[in-house]
Amino acid sequence: MQCPKCDSVMNPVAYQSSTVHRCTNCSGLWFEPVDHERLKGLAGQIDTGDEAVGEQYNHVDRINCPKCIHWPLLRMVDPQQPHIWFESCKNCYGRFYDAGEFRDFAEQTLAEFFEDLKAPARD
Ligand SMILES: [Zn+2]
Ligand SMILES: [Zn+2]
Repeated sequence: MQCPKCDSVMNPVAYQSSTVHRCTNCSGLWFEPVDHERLKGLAGQIDTGDEAVGEQYNHVDRINCPKCIHWPLLRMVDPQQPHIWFESCKNCYGRFYDAGEFRDFAEQTLAEFFEDLKAPARD
């Protein structure tokens, strides 16, 4: 598989019964549908890239699906975490996360959950 962001090779890496593709250059990640939810707990092992690099590639858009080739990837926002932008294919429903984004996505759990529950500061 070829990285939609930097055209480098994406290597398949097996986790449990799923296969994630990781770019050898920018460390972007390609997930088959639903795998990003199933593999959340392994985010630290899967998303090994440098988030500063991911931040640079986050600005690359208008890219095509690495699997379907002629289908554009659509930029989407995580409804729970609107600062995370990922790309998704509406043909195969795969998802692309830049380096660091999948860790961020998975870490939402406790810290940000409690942050949301905090009462607003008093004036
Ligand atoms: Zn790449
Ligand atoms: Zn696709």
